[in-house]
Amino acid sequence: MSRRRRIYEGKAKVLFEGPEPGTLVQYFKDDATAFNNQKKGIISGKGVLNNRISEYLMTRLAEMGIPTHFVKRLNMREQLVYELEIIPVEVVVRNIAAGSFAKRFNMPDGTPIPRSIVEYYYKSDELGDPMVTEEHITAFGWATPQDLDDIMALALRVNDYMTGLFLGVGLRLVDFKLEFGRLYNDNGEMRIVLADEISPDNCRLWDVTTNERLDKDRFRQDLGDVEEAYREVARRLGVLPEGEVREMKAKRSEAKA
Ligand code: ADP
Ligand code: UDP
Repeated sequence: MSRRRRIYEGKAKVLFEGPEPGTLVQYFKDDATAFNNQKKGIISGKGVLNNRISEYLMTRLAEMGIPTHFVKRLNMREQLVYELEIIPVEVVVRNIAAGSFAKRFNMPDGTPIPRSIVEYYYKSDELGDPMVTEEHITAFGWATPQDLDDIMALALRVNDYMTGLFLGVGLRLVDFKLEFGRLYNDNGEMRIVLADEISPDNCRLWDVTTNERLDKDRFRQDLGDVEEAYREVARRLGVLPEGEVREMKAKRSEAKA
């Protein structure tokens, strides 16, 4: 792991001070949590795979003109990103009913939603990420109405682009969570930028033909083959780091010996 100063350790990643002011190093762990931290586990190799998958998706999105915090991947588990002022709101986009949405509206998982829906949740482990509206977000000053306009427009563009990208590799993008932050330039001008990661940890991805779950639901629901599912997503996107996974396994068995 990086020898840099540790700034924050979260459930799935560690943030270190970056090499230049205004940058951070995001380290991807194998730790997995679900149900607001009540379920904890390790998905071996997840960090390596999510680092690659998120690099790939953020790079493709940047090519489409979506501003992102991603600068470059540094190694197996680390990527360099711009340091943002994070907006404490999880932005969830849904195309098909699943998870908490299916439960809330008593709909079978897999029911198509008439049009894509954007929802907001307040990022707070203590409160269990409650769902909030634009009213709460602006009244509590987490974001301005202008920020929210930008966030909504970006989230829908990300959805359109990623829906097509995943369909191209035989995956249905059921829903996903994004985070955004503010990036200031030298003139003090602010832009809303896509942050965090995009990976099977925060997207629901179902195989188009079999409806097999290839995402964190395999961990949440104890479906087994969790690592294999993440690996399959990386393989379909053409970013499976075969060499790195082999190297990691070799290191692990050396350490055990
Ligand atoms: P959590 O905090 O929910 O446990 P993680 O383990 O994924 O989640 O930690 C990553 C943390 O880093 C998140 O809180 C996220 O909001 C924050 N973050 C992501 N990208 C950036 C960025 N570019 N600048 C600052 N913070 C970021
Ligand atoms: N999600 C996430 N982090 C959260 C909550 C949700 O990444 O803290 C993602 C989740 O993986 C899914 C989408 O957001 O792709 C919608 O999740 P839902 O509200 O159904 O959450 P669940 O109750 O299933 O965690």
